[in-house]
Amino acid sequence: MANKRIAIIGAGPAGLMAAEVLSQYDYEIDVFEQKPSAARKFLMAGKTGLNISHAEPLAQFIERYDHAEWLKPWVEKWDAVWIQNWMKGLGIDSYVGSSGRIFPVEMKAAPLLRAWLKRLAEQQVKFFYRHRCINLQGTTLTLENQNNQSSETFTQQYDAVVLACGAVSWSQLGSDGTWQQWMDQSSIEPFQASNAGVLHTWSAFMESCFGEPLKRINAWVEPSQVTHGDIVITHYGLESGVIYKLGRDLREQQKQGKSLNLFLDLLPDVELTQLVKKLQASKKQSLTNIWR
Ligand SMILES: Cc1cc2nc3c(=O)[nH]c(=O)nc-3n(C[C@H](O)[C@H](O)[C@H](O)COP(=O)(O)OP(=O)(O)OC[C@H]3O[C@@H](n4cnc5c(N)ncnc54)[C@H](O)[C@@H]3O)c2cc1C
Repeated sequence: MANKRIAIIGAGPAGLMAAEVLSQYDYEIDVFEQKPSAARKFLMAGKTGLNISHAEPLAQFIERYDHAEWLKPWVEKWDAVWIQNWMKGLGIDSYVGSSGRIFPVEMKAAPLLRAWLKRLAEQQVKFFYRHRCINLQGTTLTLENQNNQSSETFTQQYDAVVLACGAVSWSQLGSDGTWQQWMDQSSIEPFQASNAGVLHTWSAFMESCFGEPLKRINAWVEPSQVTHGDIVITHYGLESGVIYKLGRDLREQQKQGKSLNLFLDLLPDVELTQLVKKLQASKKQSLTNIWR
């Protein structure tokens, strides 16, 4: 007989990892998921080549998060090496790409998810799909079972409840943010976009560049450190992991009512004096050609 009963709301990667850790103790674990199957957003992430983590040193990696100091003890425990070993334990080989990111060799999320769910079932974790949590009072859940074209509402009491309901992006995949209503508003921080591109109105001159990458450039927002990588020019502005990394400082400038200044060095490997020399008109080439 298990000693405590724990409910986990949401079968995305956060809920599954909570189930994985808690199932190593003498707990009875029920996972409630409102969708007909688990981790739909994770599967969507796998469609574009699943980047599972980053292999850079922890001191550098942790800076990618807001509240880095608060998160550090957790991230330290489950660092990149741990994640690669964990994947291996599920039969999924991984590799570190040239960008330092860790990918499953197959690039997809589905094989990893299948193996993960199988192992959790073997660890006696119970899954209840089409079960939407509609209220939470202390550790009492009100659940709506949407099976068989009808819905049935019931309540259940647990010893502890883990909310792993996701944020509010891509709500069609399940994470609609309803859980915020069950919380004391002063105990949660308002949501803000995390991976956000930059909106910028380009002149017509730039149209031929839409979709083109700016390769191996340096980018920074004062006072952040220089970030190196690629940025894609889109019809509405700029996108890429480099831009996402600078998002926090850009948001901060906006909050302070400052104008947003994003600095780009398109040729970071070329000295300024060298560049000036290269851009001088010569007898061989017109200035227009040189600039092109
Ligand atoms: C296109 C795309 C590409 C991405 N690429 C990557 C990538 O390469 N690498 C990476 O690390 N991340 C990537 N992500 C982000 C990643 O998918 C998310 O960070 C991750 O899924 C978040 O996990 P989560 O468990 O916190 O939330 P979610 O995955 O959103 O899971 C929350 C679950 O809770 C359920 N739920 C919510 N409310 C209730 C309720 N009231 N009752 C019952 N169930 C409920 C939802 O149905 C959902 O299944 C990508 C996302 C997208 C959309």
